[in-house]
Amino acid sequence: MLFVPWRYIADWKCIACGKCCKAYSVVLSFPEWLKIVKNYGVDKTVSGLNKLFVTRRNDGSCVFLYKLSNTHFCGLQFMKPKACKLWPFKVLSKPKYGYVNEAVYYYGGDRLFIYADSNCSGLVYGEPTEKFAKYTLNEFVEIALGRRKDQFKTTANIGFLQTYTGFRI
Ligand code: SF4
Ligand code: SF4
Repeated sequence: MLFVPWRYIADWKCIACGKCCKAYSVVLSFPEWLKIVKNYGVDKTVSGLNKLFVTRRNDGSCVFLYKLSNTHFCGLQFMKPKACKLWPFKVLSKPKYGYVNEAVYYYGGDRLFIYADSNCSGLVYGEPTEKFAKYTLNEFVEIALGRRKDQFKTTANIGFLQTYTGFRI
């Protein structure tokens, strides 16, 4: 796993490849766990090592991951866990993965450090565009700091999912 400081990233857009929803276990906070259990049942979650997780299928994929042709959708759009909203970025208060100058990001009075997991297929490397630096990262920072819940950068478009699959949350 390689974490790349944001100044080496030109842009990011989720291409709904589903890789992240197959490769990682999603850690839940207690309120997130409670919401999922109330709406979908306790079997959609598992506990282990003092942590709560979303259940994974036998092939390792998240139980809420849906596939249509080559596109993947998240079935938890309206209660998507924070860990999923933040993927593939890590917004940290310390430069855990080095490259201090390339990772530093100023948000208001906060000095933060942002890295991206290179396993994400939606990353484009190069000089950061203004849109990415100002708006995309800003959204991730606000989600990480708990100042925003709504997410415009999503793993799936729920309208599309409902139209083409009849899927309802
Ligand atoms: S966030 Fe990245 S790895 Fe996950 S589905 Fe989107 S493009 Fe793929
Ligand atoms: S984004 Fe949705 S489908 Fe993907 S791991 Fe998170 S909850 Fe599961």
